[in-house]
Amino acid sequence: MGILDSKIPSGPLADKWTKHKNDINLVNPANKRNIDIIVVGTGLAGGAAAATLAELGYNVKTFCYQDSPRRAHSIAAQGGINAAKNYQGDGDSNYRLFYDTIKGGDYRSREGNVYRLAEVSGNIIDQCVAQGVPFAREYGGMLDNRSFGGVLVSRTFYAKGQTGQQLLLGAYSAMNRQINRGKIQAYNRHEMMDLVLVDGKARGIIARDLVSGEIERHSAHAVVLATGGYGNVFFLSTNAMGSNVMAAWRAHRKGAFFANPCFTQIHPTCIPVSGDHQSKLTLMSESLRNDGRIWVPKKKEDAIAIREGKLKPTELSEEDRDYYLERRYPAFGNLVPRDVASRAAKERCDAGFGVNKTGEAVFLDFASAIERYGKEKALTSGIKNPDKATITKLGEEVVEAKYGNLFQMYEKIVDQNPYKTPMMIYPAVHYTMGGLWVDYNLQTTIPGCYAAGEANFSDHGANRLGASALMQGLADGYFVLPYTIGDYLSDDIRTGAIPTDSKEFDEAEQQVRDRMEKLMSGSGIHSVDYYHKKLGKIMWNKCGMARNEKELKEAIKEISELRKDFWENVKITGTIDSKNQELEKAGRVADFLELGELFAKDALHRNESCGGHFREEYQTEEGEALRDDKNFKYVAAWEYKGEPKDAELHKEDLVYENIELKTRSYK
Ligand SMILES: Cc1cc2nc3c(=O)[nH]c(=O)nc-3n(C[C@H](O)[C@H](O)[C@H](O)COP(=O)(O)OP(=O)(O)OC[C@H]3O[C@@H](n4cnc5c(N)ncnc54)[C@H](O)[C@@H]3O)c2cc1C
Repeated sequence: MGILDSKIPSGPLADKWTKHKNDINLVNPANKRNIDIIVVGTGLAGGAAAATLAELGYNVKTFCYQDSPRRAHSIAAQGGINAAKNYQGDGDSNYRLFYDTIKGGDYRSREGNVYRLAEVSGNIIDQCVAQGVPFAREYGGMLDNRSFGGVLVSRTFYAKGQTGQQLLLGAYSAMNRQINRGKIQAYNRHEMMDLVLVDGKARGIIARDLVSGEIERHSAHAVVLATGGYGNVFFLSTNAMGSNVMAAWRAHRKGAFFANPCFTQIHPTCIPVSGDHQSKLTLMSESLRNDGRIWVPKKKEDAIAIREGKLKPTELSEEDRDYYLERRYPAFGNLVPRDVASRAAKERCDAGFGVNKTGEAVFLDFASAIERYGKEKALTSGIKNPDKATITKLGEEVVEAKYGNLFQMYEKIVDQNPYKTPMMIYPAVHYTMGGLWVDYNLQTTIPGCYAAGEANFSDHGANRLGASALMQGLADGYFVLPYTIGDYLSDDIRTGAIPTDSKEFDEAEQQVRDRMEKLMSGSGIHSVDYYHKKLGKIMWNKCGMARNEKELKEAIKEISELRKDFWENVKITGTIDSKNQELEKAGRVADFLELGELFAKDALHRNESCGGHFREEYQTEEGEALRDDKNFKYVAAWEYKGEPKDAELHKEDLVYENIELKTRSYK
């Protein structure tokens, strides 16, 4: 069991990043022109990194499997992006953002990284405004903010319910400028199939052109993986259908340690599962918890009547409703962090208070917000003694202006009008805090291989606070990686172009071809989706919101058996040398089948509960997560050793010098 060096700079917390930037090596502008960088993934993290590295003068090649960077999963981000600007004058500061994030992650993230994140958060907003990102503004023209879970200030910048889309358009415009200058060569509809190492350093990738099926070799002096999260290991998640772990997993198999794979975020406000036919879940943004109140009936008989369609939720009086988050967590109320809100919803539903047909849903109700906003609007519009209908109409207009697209999405999917009846929501897999282990420079354990955005494990510990993934992805891409990668590349100014006709590229390409041949040679009994769904069920039932030793052991066994069956019996139509979406899916599911087992192994070894990792054996009397700081205050980084069961654990001890370790409380 080795010890990992996180390379966190010494010195006071607030000076670390500045000191580091002053200390690390630089590459002069003329030499940058001789250095090539591959950026795999052009979502917010990769798009930002690629544009910035190219602007600095490096030659950048980008890769994404969609037909355009604009289609990266980042586009789905709804609610907003955090920054410690303190525009509201409500007491925000870099320290508070840092503190909230460490506490939100249940004291399982690095102080140095998180403070840096808070420090650059304000720059992100300035950068995006300069790019023309249309953040929401208040009447006077100032950028508006709203609140997200786990904090007591308003620091979330947003663009209606489409923040990710607008930010991505900003990053994509910045990329386009560089494409136009010839500094970025963009390879869309290309999938990275493997990482190529030369003398132990990352020197390129093997990619497949997803349209022609052709296998290509691409070399560079460094490779950045910004390939997103792996929530789709659960099959059903809020992630885009294509989100996968392939690039990160291929790097893991080549020596990059995989950190905290079991740290997964289950988001409390998603549209509940409707049946086995489904392939995707839909998020209702956390921003809705600013105004929506979460409740279930107080009495079981009312819950049953609602489930059976004999009682409408709007008919239930206030006294008969249990606003359980407001009851249990008065200080944070409906805006407790996601892990806390998800567990509380599960607790109520398991106790028999669920409100949809399957008993797995709670209400998210906007009636009081509509009334409050309606009265305020009537007052500011000079309407005296407005009647109920006028108040409702005005209130609904305000709510529509804030969340209109989300309400519309809900109505389209559920066929109920959420202005008139409460939404029904339930937790769903949403984000993965685990990922490739990186040091302070965002370098993995493979020299020259970097990871950014959701693909790395870096800043969120055991639970990510809402609106901080966009912050981290853009911090990594615009403000961290462009500095730190230079430190490594300063050794490469005389290396010259990396040839692709070496034995290392030959071998890597052959491995990719052999793997595809093996996939195609299955006996053809079951489809790829059959295996993915089965894996998802095991993950959700045994590695989901609540985990225990017995079920985790069962999961490990079942996943390993499923993987064997997959390789023997999977059915893939078409050919290798042409467009083949079944083959694409199969490659991704094959990696999920390995990751899933490591995930369960990681969850099994962590004999504590923290953040989103809830082990039923370790909980307080009130059902809250019970950490074990004495034995588990570390990052678990797994080294590939063949089968997932043989992965070797390395620990990075987490040092808290600026924050006192406490039991996390949101009461
Ligand atoms: C519905 C939803 C709403 C969200 N809302 C918010 C929010 O309001 N605020 C917030 O902070 N966060 C939010 N998040 C989380 C946030 O959107 C993501 O964590 C973030 O966008 C991830 O960005 P990324 O750049 O790391 O990865 P992605 O945007 O997932 O991009 C991954 C890129 O990698 C490429 N790629 C992957 N594998 C390969 C491969 N093998 N070869 C080539 N290319 C590859 C893809 O093509 C893509 O370009 C939300 C998430 C969801 C699911």
